[in-house]
Amino acid sequence: MTDEIRRLKDIIDGSGNIVFFGGAGVSTESGIPDFRSVDGLYHQQWDEPPETILSHSYYERHPENFFAFYRAKLLCPDAKPNAAHRKLAEWERAGKLKAVITQNIDGLHQAAGSREVLELHGSTLRSYCEKCGRFYGVDTILHSADVPLCACGGRIKPDVVLYEEGLNEDTLYRAVKYISEADVLIIAGTSLAVYPAAGLVNYYRGHKLVVINKTPLEGRTRADLVITGAVGETLAQL
Ligand SMILES: [Zn+2]
Repeated sequence: MTDEIRRLKDIIDGSGNIVFFGGAGVSTESGIPDFRSVDGLYHQQWDEPPETILSHSYYERHPENFFAFYRAKLLCPDAKPNAAHRKLAEWERAGKLKAVITQNIDGLHQAAGSREVLELHGSTLRSYCEKCGRFYGVDTILHSADVPLCACGGRIKPDVVLYEEGLNEDTLYRAVKYISEADVLIIAGTSLAVYPAAGLVNYYRGHKLVVINKTPLEGRTRADLVITGAVGETLAQL
């Protein structure tokens, strides 16, 4: 156990009000790639950058392409929770952790047993008809050939916040409340450069801010403890 892990263990052991804020790096150990990481095959298959394809205007203009990308890059139906998801659920059951705030849309925190999960960007496990509002699970989009349609004829939209769309205000409000009241705030698997992570961190008023990230975040954080490593591997040691 390194000195940093030992310090983290002391912080966790001594707290009953932990809030966890996680990004894409929390799910990479479950085999879910960050869709922003562009691989070599990407340009052969897609004409536009992911931020364009996953925008509201692109969704409206080119729904066939949107759903092709969405199915190929955002849906990971076989992914399973990893050590990070499991540890957070364990802390919540023990009454130590108050909430998980996540930028991920894979539902893996709930699959691991977490209950208070604030999904800032929505979830791929939910979708709804734009016309009648009927809810659908992930299978409808997964198994439809092109643009998924409701029995009423309306288009089925993933319950995911696209670029150009606003975040759910209630979710944001609750996230701010949890962070501002937290004793320990752990930020993991996110560069903090992506909105709204950077802004939300400013609501934290404590002095036990822990940052866990695989690549070092040089000078971009006011963290009290910085751990460079994979999130699951790190939490599994506690
Ligand atoms: Zn409908």
